[in-house]
Amino acid sequence: MIFWFRRDLRLSDNRALVEAARRGDGDVVAVFVIDPQLAASVGPARGAYLSETLRALDASLEGQLVLRRGEPSAELAQVARATGARQVIATEDFAPAGRSRDARVRSALASAGITTTFFDSAYVVRPGTVRTKTGTPCKVFTSFRRGWENEEFTEPLGRVAGVNWVRTQSVDVSELSDVVARRRPEYFGALPDDVPHFDSRVGETGAGAILQDFVTRVGSYDETRNLPGVTGTSRLSAHLRFGTLHPRQVLAATNGSTHGAEVFRAEICWREFYADVLLHHPDSTWRELQPAMAHLRVDRDDAAIERFQRWARGETGYPLVDAGMRQLLAEGWMHNRVRMVCASFLVKHLHLDWRWGAQWFMWRLIDGDVASNQHGWQWSAGTGTDASPFHRIFNPTLQAERFDPEGRYVRQYVTELATVAAPQCLQPGAGDGLFAPTGYVAPMIDAATERDDALVRFREAREFARTTSREDGGS
Ligand SMILES: Cc1cc2nc3c(=O)[nH]c(=O)nc-3n(C[C@H](O)[C@H](O)[C@H](O)COP(=O)(O)OP(=O)(O)OC[C@H]3O[C@@H](n4cnc5c(N)ncnc54)[C@H](O)[C@@H]3O)c2cc1C
Repeated sequence: MIFWFRRDLRLSDNRALVEAARRGDGDVVAVFVIDPQLAASVGPARGAYLSETLRALDASLEGQLVLRRGEPSAELAQVARATGARQVIATEDFAPAGRSRDARVRSALASAGITTTFFDSAYVVRPGTVRTKTGTPCKVFTSFRRGWENEEFTEPLGRVAGVNWVRTQSVDVSELSDVVARRRPEYFGALPDDVPHFDSRVGETGAGAILQDFVTRVGSYDETRNLPGVTGTSRLSAHLRFGTLHPRQVLAATNGSTHGAEVFRAEICWREFYADVLLHHPDSTWRELQPAMAHLRVDRDDAAIERFQRWARGETGYPLVDAGMRQLLAEGWMHNRVRMVCASFLVKHLHLDWRWGAQWFMWRLIDGDVASNQHGWQWSAGTGTDASPFHRIFNPTLQAERFDPEGRYVRQYVTELATVAAPQCLQPGAGDGLFAPTGYVAPMIDAATERDDALVRFREAREFARTTSREDGGS
């Protein structure tokens, strides 16, 4: 019996693994396959994080993880031949690329006489389950949340027991980060490709430690989650991304009657909602969920590329935006409030394509997840579900004053402003004028002017969509 690890790199509450052990009478070959096709779009941050996570998994398997590199069906078939296994079990994947890979693997292995079974999911409720009263997929979060809460939530299982891990030929874990030839879009130019300093608490044990720490804070989550200068959120996203923790385990540990626990549960539900939306709309990975918004005029010339790169380097002159983009570069993670502000700034103040920003986030984030990232971006760009309407435009300075009033976050990441007190350190052009020059950049744009331009573009797009739909209707 082969257990094919993918986004479930843990031994506890791994239902597909338990099923593999049951069907294999305890004999299981634990395999992870580095698929060069998929790995080419994994940036250095997530590549390094995955390597560390695989090392931790291998240690918890007492060195018995079989790591292979190549096209998954060919690698799995070889492992099956070497070990005499006739079955492969894996946790079901719901993202578009994963689903088409799994269909290919299942059919290729079937022709070699090997059956492939997909089991469970990386979600509390299997994507595709929740529907509206009329049986259609949910388009908005509130309706999804209602249905999701009505589903049965199963308790997490303990660590799989009584398994005899069967070993065969394997490659070294370092192959993942060192060997893969990455595909970088041209507009990244010379943007950095270094590995960020992420939390060293990786793997299942690391996830457990972070969860235990958060359990003591979840009661105040509702008050602190929007403050980037405070450790208010769980910091569990990369663990949920790689499945070193299942959301069942997270909900069981944080379950409580506080308002904080309730608000936190809603955030876990957002993750499930976006997976559901992506399942029903696989095109929404790169296409606007609201077709009318595809007509929004965006800039793509050399000056636009230059603006994109300044944004990505955290050199816009807007302190909260720059702090967020520098946190992303330094840690491979960014606070949710700041993700929203940075995304809005790229689309609505710099007039760039949301896909450019989404691609950069995916490149740098250790928690980069196609459903949450693409739909987080679509939400911010006003093109997605529950779209925060395009014309509601975050003012980056007011956001800083509201959510980082003491400038703790800004001063931590924009080191040029480390000694400038709030509220001055939150202003565009901070460091110039009233203060001794700090070396911090002048604002690259005037937010009020660009906001007006964004609204003009929005009206044009809406008008264009209205006219063309009228013409289509008449033809
Ligand atoms: C533009 C943009 C891009 C994003 N890209 C990603 C991404 O690639 N991967 C990712 O996991 N999240 C993404 N998010 C959602 C959110 O920012 C992160 O999940 C969160 O910041 C992770 O930190 P945390 O674990 O401390 O979150 P917490 O606040 O502690 O939340 C707990 C968990 O709930 C889930 N969650 C929370 N907020 C959201 C949300 N808005 N949408 C979906 N799931 C959520 C995450 O799994 C998170 O770990 C994005 C949001 C935006 C606005």
